[in-house]
Amino acid sequence: MVADTKLYDALGVKPDATEQQLKKAYRLGALKYHPDKNPSPEAAEKFKEMTAAYEILSDSEKRDVYDQYGEQGLNGGGMGGMGGMDASDIFSQFFGGGGGRPSGPVRGRDIKHSLGCTLEELYKGKVAKLALNKTVLCKDCDGKGGKNVKKCTGCNGTGTKFVTRQMGPMIQRFQTQCDKCNGQGDIMAESDRCKTCKGKKVTNERKILEVNVYPGMKEGQKVVFEGEGDQQPDVIPGDVIFIIEEKPNELYTRKGDDLYINQKIDLLTALAGGEVAFKHVSGEWLKLEIIPGEVIAPGSTKVVSGKGMPIPKHGGFGNLLVKFDVEFPKNHFASEEQLKALEKILPARPVQKIPKGVEVDDSCTFEEYDPLKHAPRTSNRGGYYDEDEDEDGGQPGVQCAQQ
Ligand SMILES: [Zn+2]
Ligand SMILES: [Zn+2]
Repeated sequence: MVADTKLYDALGVKPDATEQQLKKAYRLGALKYHPDKNPSPEAAEKFKEMTAAYEILSDSEKRDVYDQYGEQGLNGGGMGGMGGMDASDIFSQFFGGGGGRPSGPVRGRDIKHSLGCTLEELYKGKVAKLALNKTVLCKDCDGKGGKNVKKCTGCNGTGTKFVTRQMGPMIQRFQTQCDKCNGQGDIMAESDRCKTCKGKKVTNERKILEVNVYPGMKEGQKVVFEGEGDQQPDVIPGDVIFIIEEKPNELYTRKGDDLYINQKIDLLTALAGGEVAFKHVSGEWLKLEIIPGEVIAPGSTKVVSGKGMPIPKHGGFGNLLVKFDVEFPKNHFASEEQLKALEKILPARPVQKIPKGVEVDDSCTFEEYDPLKHAPRTSNRGGYYDEDEDEDGGQPGVQCAQQ
């Protein structure tokens, strides 16, 4: 007879469920309610509940306390205070990933670093030499801490033990350091203790890693050094992972394998041809010809094939897209006579098409645009800015005389 069945109910099992049945129930429930599988808030709540229940029931000591005293019995010891695992740790035991229990090989944490690269470096590739400070198993004692090392019988090598104490109606549980081995988990004669690591089993080491950034790598891509993480006894070292971070470039932007640049071009070259030269991300300069007869319109784009980023694995290069910003001459760049000459060269002015019979106001003049004076107003009528206001506000830069 158990005191309370709430935790069993959360997993949908009977109070006499075997460890296997509990495990199976949790696994099935997790597949159904884990936030990755089911994003609804109800599912998240259910998953949390199930995980909390499983955390207790899968631990035979905690399960005994719960069966005898119900949840109250567990509260005294403080479930959090016992260093309880969180939901993701329990979940990862089932489905892989970090975390884990002392039983079976534990995998150490991965160490992640971001590696900033300029576009030029990503174009050419580079080898970055980076110093890594890590702990390694002591070479002088092979990570054993000394000679004739025996596993501590007081804590079964874990270095910690649980103490259960009854305080009134509550059962309190403490995790304390094993006093037989001072939390080391093993026992040896003082004279056998390794001098190099002082029995700590690990030492610090500085290691230089050569990170190979190959041409064409992209933001977010990883360079993985398997098993180069910190070494600890009975732990499979994690990986050291470098994550490429692309630094912004002054001239170029990158989309996939293609490069984009905005290039200024003077009006004469845009109309009558000439040369355009600019620096490429490779460091070299590109010189291109605008063939006379070809017109470069403001904002138009031309493509330079094969001058984008290198394409890893497949080989070859992306494209370079050049968007032209045509720079017009300043006011009064030519005399009136010269302008007349332009009329003979450029296509004739089109006739303005004004529908017949409409009222025409020809008293307006163009003013210079002044951002301070003519920026969009947030309404000076106490309301909010509304595009409809333009209907009665007239167009910026055009002033009309009162009729
Ligand atoms: Zn040692
Ligand atoms: Zn011990």
